[in-house]
Amino acid sequence: MLTLNTDITNITRVGKTTANQLKRLGIETVQDLLFYFPFRYDDFTKLMPIDKLQAGTSANIVGQIELIQNKRSSRKRMYITEALVSDETETIKVTWFNQPFIARNLRVGDRVSLAGKVDGGYGEYVMKSPIYEKIPHPTPPLIRGGNKREGYHTQGLVPNYHLTANITQKQIRFLIKQIIGMANKVVDWLPAETKSNLKMLDLAKAITKIHFPKTQNDIEQAHRRLAFNELFLIQLQSQLIKQELKSSKAQAVPFLEKETKRFVDSLLFKLTDAQRKAAWEILQDISKDKPMARLLEGDVGSGKTVVAVMAMLNAALNKKQAVLMVPTEILAMQHFESVCKLLAGVNVRVGLLTRSARRITRNVERVMHKDKLSKKKMVEMIKNGEVDIIIGTHALIQEDVEFKNLVLAIIDEQHKFGVEQRKMLIEKSGSVAEKATRCLARHRVAVAVPHLLSMTATPIPRSLALALYGDLDISIINEMPKGRKKISTFVVPENKRHDAYKFIREQIKQGRQVFVICPLIDFSDKLGVKSVKEEFKKLDEQVFPDLEIGFLHGRMKAKEKEQIMQDFLDNKIKILVSTSVVEVGVDVVNTTIMMIEGADRFGLAQLHQFRGRVGRSEHQSYCFLFSDNQMEKSLKRLQALVNCNDGFALAKMDLKFRGPGQVYGTAQKGFPELKIATLFDYQLMKQARGQAVKLVDKDASLDSWPELKKKLAPLDKAGYLTG
Ligand code: ADP
Ligand code: MG
Repeated sequence: MLTLNTDITNITRVGKTTANQLKRLGIETVQDLLFYFPFRYDDFTKLMPIDKLQAGTSANIVGQIELIQNKRSSRKRMYITEALVSDETETIKVTWFNQPFIARNLRVGDRVSLAGKVDGGYGEYVMKSPIYEKIPHPTPPLIRGGNKREGYHTQGLVPNYHLTANITQKQIRFLIKQIIGMANKVVDWLPAETKSNLKMLDLAKAITKIHFPKTQNDIEQAHRRLAFNELFLIQLQSQLIKQELKSSKAQAVPFLEKETKRFVDSLLFKLTDAQRKAAWEILQDISKDKPMARLLEGDVGSGKTVVAVMAMLNAALNKKQAVLMVPTEILAMQHFESVCKLLAGVNVRVGLLTRSARRITRNVERVMHKDKLSKKKMVEMIKNGEVDIIIGTHALIQEDVEFKNLVLAIIDEQHKFGVEQRKMLIEKSGSVAEKATRCLARHRVAVAVPHLLSMTATPIPRSLALALYGDLDISIINEMPKGRKKISTFVVPENKRHDAYKFIREQIKQGRQVFVICPLIDFSDKLGVKSVKEEFKKLDEQVFPDLEIGFLHGRMKAKEKEQIMQDFLDNKIKILVSTSVVEVGVDVVNTTIMMIEGADRFGLAQLHQFRGRVGRSEHQSYCFLFSDNQMEKSLKRLQALVNCNDGFALAKMDLKFRGPGQVYGTAQKGFPELKIATLFDYQLMKQARGQAVKLVDKDASLDSWPELKKKLAPLDKAGYLTG
């Protein structure tokens, strides 16, 4: 007996080979097959009598094979299979190229259904390489006026699936056709009221219709229901979290005006108005006992760090702890350095904690000293509240850090983190929403959760923010510090490479420094893509043998990385060859050239991030893009970077070229994979949210809808949704 969990090998005609191939598509059970949705449909709904065919249109015909034979074409040694097919109105010629087996599959006298394009003129029509399927005799209804569907590869709306090489559309359709009845066994977990509020199809119906629709409307309805499933679960999850947060409390961090002003006055630059406004919004938020949930958006180089420091400073001076989380070790080290510099003269203790580097500051007569520590000691000090501001990578969450008194958690470059990690951070922070609610339920008291600030340079449109984070407040820094020069960007052809190197030499002579970015770490002969090691060797031995050159990549030991970054900061290293590890956040003010190899391999938003590493001083800066892909489309894409300096606009263009998963980091582990919905189904998203709000208002425990609760349970545990 078939069940939803039956292994696909138990379905007729699925052998070992096929099973393995299906496995590669993630299909192992009957249920997987049901949920393997088509991505488009061929419209073969027009069943036509042959004498009514028109050249240039696509159509479906049903007829009998009168003649079929293989021929060798004189040109290029091709096989041509020719057939004559007739119905009771007319005969038409049909040809296929290089598929001689068709002449064995289809024989004279067979009844076939064909779908494809009609070619030719002057009454001499040909159907070229149509999709075909045999249809059993005897003929059921007449063709003229007959409307009963007999084939499912060549008639009606025919589903097309994303497949790997060795599985054909026909195979997968055949398999799904066999088990489509099992759709009735799928539990429809969407509450009846939600379904009826929005007039949603039943799940079984939606599944059936998405695979075998009769009309366009069927497709739309099925798609709507299945997409709603995904968006609704996301929205429900975020409503539940919001509910929890609402009932939880944060510790207020009173705004210390005098100290904050003193800090601002100590800066070597004047804050921009946008920075002031963002800082104000954040400081206001954290001065309340309701947990802040805010996103700080600002283009690369707009100066988000100092805003974060103002908030952390207030936490520290209030004798509480703040943590700044970053995605890479290099960035953690660098933030540590710059935060120390900014806070020199203020009596707070700053700690650095990454997988392999620990530092802590000590203030002696208004000068900060940095000491190395063992991890154990560091963790202990954090736990005892002997460190005020902690900067680190997610090693921080993975390893067992407990805070004494965490009131503010800041996540830098948050699009680089998965939802999972973000949530873990919240959980770590002394008490998660989850813990809080549990506690609440037991003791009816609120447990404090930290204020949360996420920072990103990737502009996220409101609709997306809604999808990704539920209801975050957003602050935007939409202004660059004064005096920044526009970075001159060039797509450099290979034959000008030499000139680029000459230019680099001149810049270095004037005291400037250079980044060279490569897509890979190691040489790879397969891809022909530039690697850090190769380029380093080339530059170091051949091009600039007289200059100090360093390299950097994610597989190096933290100590090595730190040394290299320090040498680069100290202008001991003139050229730093690196992978994308320097993509985010890295701030070496003296660099004026960003040279990117294999630029076509990066997204526009990412390239914009790289470019943002330079142009941080009063000196004119440059960005050179080299591409191994000379295709016009690829060059055109890079050209966008030359013309446009606006991260938001570039991200939008990226969306067109690469899709939202890549652009907004949602492709990472941790974000629910959307199989059928997209983040741009804004209307549906709003409906999903509306319904989620209704349910949560009614019964936040979800006990009224056990099936739904079951559906959500594993999600909750893992902290993210899996689909
Ligand atoms: P991002 O927003 O990309 O994180 P950073 O915080 O790294 O940017 O700031 C980029 C550079 O600009 C840093 O060197 C920082 O010291 C400097 N900076 C920040 N704010 C200002 C300002 N108002 N005027 C001048 N320079 C500033
Ligand atoms: Mg930054």
